[in-house]
Amino acid sequence: MQDVPTFWSPRIAALQPYLPGEQPRIPRLIKLNTNENPYPPSPRAIDAVQRAAEEGLERYPDPESLALREAVAARHGLSSAQVFAGNGSDEVLAHAFFAFFQQAEPLLFVDVTYSFYKVYAQLYGIACELQPVDAALRVDFDALARRAAQGCGGIVVANPNAPTGIGASLVQIEQLLLACPQRVVLVDEAYVDFGGQSAIPLIARHPNLLVVQTLSKSRSLAGLRVGFACGQVPLIDGLVRVKNSFNSYPLDRLASAGAVAALEDEAWFEKTRDAVVHTREGLALQLEDLGFEVLPSQANFVFVRHPAHDAAVLAAALRERAVLVRHFRHPRIAQYLRISIGTRDQCAALVDALQQILQPAT
Ligand code: PMP
Repeated sequence: MQDVPTFWSPRIAALQPYLPGEQPRIPRLIKLNTNENPYPPSPRAIDAVQRAAEEGLERYPDPESLALREAVAARHGLSSAQVFAGNGSDEVLAHAFFAFFQQAEPLLFVDVTYSFYKVYAQLYGIACELQPVDAALRVDFDALARRAAQGCGGIVVANPNAPTGIGASLVQIEQLLLACPQRVVLVDEAYVDFGGQSAIPLIARHPNLLVVQTLSKSRSLAGLRVGFACGQVPLIDGLVRVKNSFNSYPLDRLASAGAVAALEDEAWFEKTRDAVVHTREGLALQLEDLGFEVLPSQANFVFVRHPAHDAAVLAAALRERAVLVRHFRHPRIAQYLRISIGTRDQCAALVDALQQILQPAT
C-alpha cells in the first residue's frame, strides 16, 4: 500500500483510480474493451461541431444546455424541464448519487453491475447494500423489491445490466418503483438502444424514477462526453441544484452542437445500431462454435466464458495479438470476458485470434 499524503481527506485514500490500461496509447489495436461504437458519429454531428467551433469559443456556453434538453425531450415526448444534461452519463450519475442517495438507509444495487456505482457511493460516503445476482448472473428482481420495501436509500439498476448485457423488463423495473415510492430508483440505460426497453414511458406514472442515458454508445459520441437524465420536474430540480452549487456548465459549445445534430439524425442512428446488433448476433454464434458460453446480450457487447480456458490467460493472449477485450478481477466474473462489438472486420480478426489461441496448429 502506497503512503497516503497527510493532506489528503481520509476518504480519498480508499479510492481506486480508473485503469489507464483500458485506454492504451498504442496504434493499430483492435479495441473491443470499453464498449465504444466502432462506427463514426453522424456526419451531421461532425459538421455541427465544426460550425460551432467557427462560430466562436470565446463565449461561455448556455448554462442550461437548453438546445440539447429540448432535443432529448422532443425525442421522448417529455418537456425540457424533465431533462438534465451532463458531461457524459458518468457525471450525471455522480450528481444523482449526490442529490438523492445520501440517506439514512443504504442504497441498493446488485453485486455484478457497473463498477462506478460503488465508486460514487464511496466518494460521497453513501452506505450501500449489494444484492447477489443468481448463478446465471441474473438480477433477482423479486428479492430486490422485497429488500427495498423494508426501507432503503434508493436503488440503482443498469438496464441492460453491465457487464452481463442481460436486459430487464419494464414489469421488473416497475416492481422496484412501487417497492420504494419515497426513494429514487435510478435506471442506467447506457446500452438500452441495442435491444433493451427504456423505462422513460414510466416517468409519467412514477415521480421516483430517474432514467439516465448517454450518447457515448448508440450515438458514437464517447469522445464528446454527453449524457442526460429524464424524470419528473422535482427530480430534475434536485440535479440542477447540485450542478449549480458547483457553478458548472453541463455541456460545452462543441458537445452541445454535436449532440443535438446526432440526436436529429435518426437514419444514421438506426443504420449503425442495426449493424452493431447484427454483428453481435453473428459473433455470438461464432463464439459458441468455439466452445464459449455466451450470455444473452441486449447491449453492444457480449459477456462470455470458456469452460476449458482461463479468462485472464485468454485476455492476455488476445492482447499479444493486438486485440483488446475486458477482463474483470471481481471474483464472481473472473472467468468471463467482456467483448465490445466492433466492425465485422474487427470481429472477424477477434475470432481468428481466438481460433489460433484455442486450437494452435500442431
Ligand atoms: N453506465 C454504464 C452502465 C456504462 O457502462 C458506462 C460506460 N462505461 C457509463 C454509464 C458511462 O458512460 P458515459 O460517461 O460515457 O456516458
